[in-house]
Amino acid sequence: MSGVLIIGTGLAGYTLAREWRARDPHTALTLVTRDDGAYYTKPMLSGALGRGQSPGDLVQRTAEAMAEELDARILTQTPVSALIPDERRVRLQDGRTLDYDALVLALGAEPIHFSYAGDAADAVLMVNDLTDYVRFRQAIEEVERVALIGPGLIGCEFANDLAASGRAVEVIGPDAWPLGRLVPEAAGQAVQRGLEGAGVRFHLGTVVQRIDRCGSGYRLSLKDGTDLEAGAVLSAVGVRPRVDLARGAGLAVQQGICVDRHLATSAAGVYALGDCAQVEGRVLPYVAPIRHAAKALARTLAGEVTPVRYPAMPVQVKTTLHPVVVAPPDPQAEGAWDVVPVGEGVKARFLDPGGRLLGFALTGTEAVKARQELTRDLPPILDE
Ligand SMILES: Cc1cc2nc3c(=O)[nH]c(=O)nc-3n(C[C@H](O)[C@H](O)[C@H](O)COP(=O)(O)OP(=O)(O)OC[C@H]3O[C@@H](n4cnc5c(N)ncnc54)[C@H](O)[C@@H]3O)c2cc1C
Repeated sequence: MSGVLIIGTGLAGYTLAREWRARDPHTALTLVTRDDGAYYTKPMLSGALGRGQSPGDLVQRTAEAMAEELDARILTQTPVSALIPDERRVRLQDGRTLDYDALVLALGAEPIHFSYAGDAADAVLMVNDLTDYVRFRQAIEEVERVALIGPGLIGCEFANDLAASGRAVEVIGPDAWPLGRLVPEAAGQAVQRGLEGAGVRFHLGTVVQRIDRCGSGYRLSLKDGTDLEAGAVLSAVGVRPRVDLARGAGLAVQQGICVDRHLATSAAGVYALGDCAQVEGRVLPYVAPIRHAAKALARTLAGEVTPVRYPAMPVQVKTTLHPVVVAPPDPQAEGAWDVVPVGEGVKARFLDPGGRLLGFALTGTEAVKARQELTRDLPPILDE
């Protein structure tokens, strides 16, 4: 019996493994990862400075401890190079192959990388896992000013964390306001004011064109003519689902690896969840969808076929200087924002033409208190 094979030991891979083991203590389980397999909670990465945590403090369990807990074989530092669904087999980069009865792709997403002119374009840091984070912490250790490309959710969280650690932060992006893809203008401006109050400077409506070495740091030349100097440059411009393995094996792929309500890909016996998956057309690179997907898939793999259901899943943006909770409306939704100032922030509700709540953005300590009440009124993202 080949059992269940999970590729990826991020939150998706490990959450599924735990849920499934709780239902099936006997069938063989193998996890393969190209990293060290340490269990950590990725959202902690963008708040660790403020909490005074080192990268090592973020490791909750080693791969060995996870293998024991899950009664599983965990192959670390072992990239998978190809899927062969017709033979129910995967090929590893070192030439070995692994057979499976059921395969789960929990491959995560790749940070988007922009290319820049200049002799220091390759010095741009990105943080999408613990290994990246170790590099980032080493790079900023002696640095007083950090340039941060990308005023989205992750960018704002890092700006908050760096500012809270006493560093000057310059945030650059083409957006008209921070969190531009998630919240309306007034909410973004409230977040901007909150972060500016801690010394963060925003350069919006413009982009970085060149990055050159300058003394022991870097000079960034922006399209609007501004030159900035910083000791480190961090890019947080978004992530893209890892689809190459699936595409190479002929599985249906769009923005992510296409799966149905049962998390089943287009190949028999192959499933996907987490940041790599596009579930019924939706790519939702957050923790809450992973928890719901893992519960449903664990049941399915244990023989009780269960579709995934997504309730409304607001996301807390960890900008402690100006708290934010967002439940973005579906991008195709028809409607408009209704924005009311509350304290130093705003309560913004996205309403359809009939007045039905389809999303919200709450910013500031007073406004975020409405989170539960508004969440109750939101429609589920994927219903029964
Ligand atoms: C800084 C930061 C802060 C965040 N904050 C929040 C937050 O506050 N709230 C929230 O909801 N979400 C947040 N997110 C998003 C959330 O962390 C992710 O949605 C989630 O962690 C994704 O988990 P995953 O298991 O799908 O992917 P990953 O954690 O990326 O895991 C992918 C796994 O696949 C393995 N892998 C990939 N390719 C191969 C291969 N070819 N062979 C073998 N192994 C392979 C990798 O080694 C890894 O083990 C944040 C993300 C970041 C980066």
